[in-house]
Amino acid sequence: MTSQTPIEYLRSQDERHIEDLLEYARIPSVSAQSQHAEDLQKAAHWIANRCRHAGLTVDIHETPTHPIVVARTPNPEPGKPTFLVYGHYDVQPPEPFELWTSPPFEPRREGRNVYARGISDNKGQHLAHINAIEAWLQFGQPLPCNITLLIEGEEEVGSTSLLKFLPEHAQELACDAVVISDNGIPSLKHPTLTYALRGIAAIEIRVDGPDRDLHSGIFGGSLDNPAMVLCQMLAQMRDTKGRITVPGLYEDVQKLSAYERRQMAKLPSNPDKYRRFLGVPQLFGEKGFTPEEQRTARPTFEINGLTSGYQGEGSKTIIPSWASAKITLRLVPDQEPRKIIAAVKKHLQRLCPKTVRLTVRHGHGGKPYLVDPTGPLAQAALRAIQAGFGCEALLAREGGSIPIVSAFKEHLGADSLLIGMALPDDNPHSPNEKLSLDAYAAGMRMSVHLWEELAAAMA
Ligand SMILES: [Zn+2]
Repeated sequence: MTSQTPIEYLRSQDERHIEDLLEYARIPSVSAQSQHAEDLQKAAHWIANRCRHAGLTVDIHETPTHPIVVARTPNPEPGKPTFLVYGHYDVQPPEPFELWTSPPFEPRREGRNVYARGISDNKGQHLAHINAIEAWLQFGQPLPCNITLLIEGEEEVGSTSLLKFLPEHAQELACDAVVISDNGIPSLKHPTLTYALRGIAAIEIRVDGPDRDLHSGIFGGSLDNPAMVLCQMLAQMRDTKGRITVPGLYEDVQKLSAYERRQMAKLPSNPDKYRRFLGVPQLFGEKGFTPEEQRTARPTFEINGLTSGYQGEGSKTIIPSWASAKITLRLVPDQEPRKIIAAVKKHLQRLCPKTVRLTVRHGHGGKPYLVDPTGPLAQAALRAIQAGFGCEALLAREGGSIPIVSAFKEHLGADSLLIGMALPDDNPHSPNEKLSLDAYAAGMRMSVHLWEELAAAMA
């Protein structure tokens, strides 16, 4: 034990933290490829050992596939709040190898970046937390809270084992909040707390007409065309200004508060650069909202796939027998997937003419997610981010969803604080993945402050 403060200790360990990171990134823990099963074991044991060295007590839970590592701060005190840090030691496949500047599992340091598969998603991000917790444990004063680390090896392939593990071990994983660092921030100068995720509702629509494709010359004009009917129905689901026209769809949409809009407006934005990045001639979106708000805080109705009739070479003069469309809606708090699907179905039935038969099949649904950004835990996280990164912490919403967040809410009853350390050019899931060592260091400082801030917020 030393008298160094956790922040001073972190600084004194700078080089070792980088060496640890390189060593961890050398393990090719690719969960999607069975030839790497042993490497997954190796990665689980590597991170378990790292946790032990940090002063944590560790359990390795075997599963039918890859182990789940649970580490805890020693001598948990029932009077103190408990926080759970989630991470994953598995990585995406590195292919195609030829697009990598250097081999994916031979970490390459270049300036303040390190290139390796899995270094940003997610090895560096949870290692930063472990380094910060170690800094606390070597300090003369007790940690202000209990911390449990939960590190799995199947995130990139659907977290099957963890989703079974969570309800079975809910008691021992009980916590006041979950901290997840597995996402990105716009820049080192714009560190963010992600406080909301969109949900999803999927449906498949099929319109059936004649029992076979028919000659459009002999029969055309005397019966309806299923492809045309489907297009006409779909065209009435959203107006040309981007507003969904399904009755009741916006009923449960939570309004963005003035505070949220003010915070979101501080995120870096360049509509023209964004337009060029998307490769479209012009941006499109609901009036009265910024592109950032449109893609994270508003519901959407998207046609993902449209199928009907003949699509081969040349022409084929038919009235197709059927037409179908795959649809997903992105949902925002407090929309309920089931209620939304029912509303869409009802609208489709109302629009469908009697000349065809309509079938609507339900696909998967996922609820949107929101942590009150003005609540004590979110505000505590913002203070820790600000202290760690040395600049104002902003609020952001994510347009997609992170399924594990809903699982933590369902099985542990706990909210998740999403505090990313990845930068937009980190290339997760792509060749030349990298981690910024400045983000890594800022993430560690943030984590040191986080435990104090979160504990104080719960007091
Ligand atoms: Zn990840």
